[in-house]
Amino acid sequence: MRTPLLAGNWKMNGSADLVEAFGRAFAEAELPEGIEVVIFPPFPYLDAARRAFADTPLRLGAQSLNPLHSGAHTGEVSGRMLCEFGVRYALVGHSERRQLYREGDAQVFDRLLAALSVGLTPVLCVGETLEERDAGRTMEVVLRQVGFVMSRLEPEQRPRVVIAYEPVWAIGTGRTATPEQAQEVMAGIRDYQASYDRELADGLRLLYGGSMNAGNAAELLAQPDIDGGLVGGASLKVDDFLAICQSAG
Ligand code: 13P
Repeated sequence: MRTPLLAGNWKMNGSADLVEAFGRAFAEAELPEGIEVVIFPPFPYLDAARRAFADTPLRLGAQSLNPLHSGAHTGEVSGRMLCEFGVRYALVGHSERRQLYREGDAQVFDRLLAALSVGLTPVLCVGETLEERDAGRTMEVVLRQVGFVMSRLEPEQRPRVVIAYEPVWAIGTGRTATPEQAQEVMAGIRDYQASYDRELADGLRLLYGGSMNAGNAAELLAQPDIDGGLVGGASLKVDDFLAICQSAG
């Protein structure tokens, strides 16, 4: 069976105090058996988070990484550096990176490959805009984003990828996809993988993201093809994020 994964993407939010608060709360929290929980704080908090999360089930993720290991790339951070801070996961292809920083499929692929090369688990984010959904192009867009990356990987690399379906119109808008809408797309992603590798598809972990909160998480997570969540706003409040993690049981 697939291990549920609950991930909190803090984006450019949070503080040293919030890191400490998560460490304290999760040291005592009762979580459902067998789930994984990851926090993606901004880079400057990674070291503090590693220490604060040491006696908790929380794992660490990075919100981005450069495709290269080192070099003259002012402002960038490499996967190798992240590994030195206990980071285990890396987001690639988040819609904010695609839209605000013009990262296209090729760049997303390079970053994902860099993550794999240093042993990080990449979380590949995909999703359609409202315009694309209204035009009936949801599956075409999502499968292009998934296919671009997966088709270029070696077969043994593919099972190491986690995919997060985040409809752009649901991110930060309070407008969550209905469980049926999310399930339909995510089943489509799994079926697409199954068309060339059934075992890969069965093991593939698929996360939903987009205005997930303590009130709607249980229903979303109950869908057969939703294996976890990638949570933005609601991951900035300890109690809300804990409640989301608890609804994965
Ligand atoms: P919200 O939960 O704030 O909608 O953000 C989702 C997201 O983009 C997580 O990566």
